[in-house]
Amino acid sequence: MGSELQEVTIRILPPEVSALIAAGEVVERPASVVKELIENSLDAGASQVSIEVRQSGLDLIRVTDNGKGIPSSDLALAFHRCATSKVTSAQDLARITTLGFRGEALPSIAAAADVEMLSRTANAVAGTYLRLADGKPVGQGTWGAPVGTTVTVLQLFAKQPARRKFMRSPTAENQHIASLVSQYALAYPEVRFSLRMEGRQALLTSGSGQLTDAVASVHGAEVAAAMLPVLWPADGERAPISVTGLAGPPHVSRASRGYVSLFVNRRWVQNRRLTFAVEEAYSGLLPAGRHPFAIVDLRLPYEEVDVNVHPTKAEVRFRQENEAFVAVQRAVRQALLEQAPVPSVSSTAGVAVAQTGVPGETTPPPLWQRALEREDAATTAADTAAPPPKVSLPMLRVVGQIGNTYIVAEGPQGIYLIDQHAAHERVLFEEICAARQRQALDAQGLLEATVVEVSPRQREVILAYYEVLSEHGFHLEPFGERTYLIRAVPAVLPGKDLSQAFAEFLDTLGEETAPDRRDRVAITLACHAAVTAGQPLAVEEMRELVRRLEQAQVPHTCPHGRPTMIHMSTALLEKEFRRR
Ligand code: ADP
Ligand code: MG
Repeated sequence: MGSELQEVTIRILPPEVSALIAAGEVVERPASVVKELIENSLDAGASQVSIEVRQSGLDLIRVTDNGKGIPSSDLALAFHRCATSKVTSAQDLARITTLGFRGEALPSIAAAADVEMLSRTANAVAGTYLRLADGKPVGQGTWGAPVGTTVTVLQLFAKQPARRKFMRSPTAENQHIASLVSQYALAYPEVRFSLRMEGRQALLTSGSGQLTDAVASVHGAEVAAAMLPVLWPADGERAPISVTGLAGPPHVSRASRGYVSLFVNRRWVQNRRLTFAVEEAYSGLLPAGRHPFAIVDLRLPYEEVDVNVHPTKAEVRFRQENEAFVAVQRAVRQALLEQAPVPSVSSTAGVAVAQTGVPGETTPPPLWQRALEREDAATTAADTAAPPPKVSLPMLRVVGQIGNTYIVAEGPQGIYLIDQHAAHERVLFEEICAARQRQALDAQGLLEATVVEVSPRQREVILAYYEVLSEHGFHLEPFGERTYLIRAVPAVLPGKDLSQAFAEFLDTLGEETAPDRRDRVAITLACHAAVTAGQPLAVEEMRELVRRLEQAQVPHTCPHGRPTMIHMSTALLEKEFRRR
């Protein structure tokens, strides 16, 4: 073999190749292009930023701003690697005040797509136009234009079939773009944002400067009206770190993570510690399984934050992370305690709420139970890994419920611990699929149509699933740009709090990954209609659930593949108790 080893030669890559490699870091997907262009517009002081997207950004992304523009003599220079007007010295890097600073975005975009730029400064009489193909200027001219800049990105990744292949579905890419623009709209309420996707107005903010208005544009007026202002230190006081924003009171919490928007010195960032600080602030105020909805704007001296740690600038590092953590936690906590009705707080569990009347309120299962669950999940993983098709369950006798979460049942071969939520999910999923096949899915007409406002991302989900949703009993009518009329819902869906339930349904549906679209809707429906963990069940209800589970085709796992039950065989019990 040794003789076959070829000698390798090290070469410096041709510039087109190294440009593509560098571009890969910045331009991962269409949303990354949108992000960089919006940041440039904001750095240019724009008060209006309009974004247009076609074919999920692969055909066209156009961002137009009314910022200060680029002098015509600099236009071509802007596309050079490491060309920036924002940093001049190494000292500047320690104190970055702009969103961009690497001078990488425009060259990276131009390496991955054809680009046209039209820009005019206040001093110029006309705009200058520049067109690039393969990263090189191929045309320039003078055009009439208002002050500001328009960048058009065409045929993104046309020359990188591998990248195109890795794109998720067009819907998923559009969802990314919609949530990204929403974040910037929340970070810059004084800027008027417009997002048009595939010819539709997906988002339009007022640019009034009021965060509540921006929240209303993104998440709807109802949510915006309920939010509690966060202000720390109190009005008029000065401190090196300040925290402002809006925190959702416990009743606008969400079923999934990802509703905490964090901005650090006006930069949208992802930071697990700070997200945790927000979650901590809600501790004892939210039932288990619920997550906070909050927008947190942290400001601190520029030199306290290192933004030069991540190619897309999505992460930052703090010189004193603990201080930032404490500030965020305290600010949000104070807003909640002063303004939200306070339930009695359980200090030990951290998640338990002793408030009456909260829907979905739960007590966490006791510790021993959680430990047992973990252990058994590990030991049963092998058994449940590949459930043979149609394994029917023996007849089971319900003994009782523990932790309001698990049903204890006895069968001919021992004890069964059944996860009530997972089991109900399985049962409903199969019933929904069967009814759909017979075209006998029940819809529940609403006496009065409910008006719901949806976020741009939720709207993308509706559009992507419109037909499948109606096949499952959702009768929705578009009612204005961002509003839908719900005329009917699937009969299995619990009727109360319809607009919140619907919003959560869309959020989960957007995350569902089952290969088949109808299955995705059916699984999400089953998940939302199923009893939750923490819900006390009467013996009759448990018997009914177990009876339906006995009839399921695949009773051992929920539609996501998690086990619905743990079996402790008589033999195992005898061995553990040393009866044998
Ligand atoms: P960076 O933002 O890191 O400086 P970019 O490659 O994104 O690097 O942009 C290069 C330069 O082009 C910027 O420094 C800025 O001077 C100019 N520029 C880009 N977009 C705009 C815009 N929309 N308005 C005004 N100037 C812009
Ligand atoms: Mg930039």
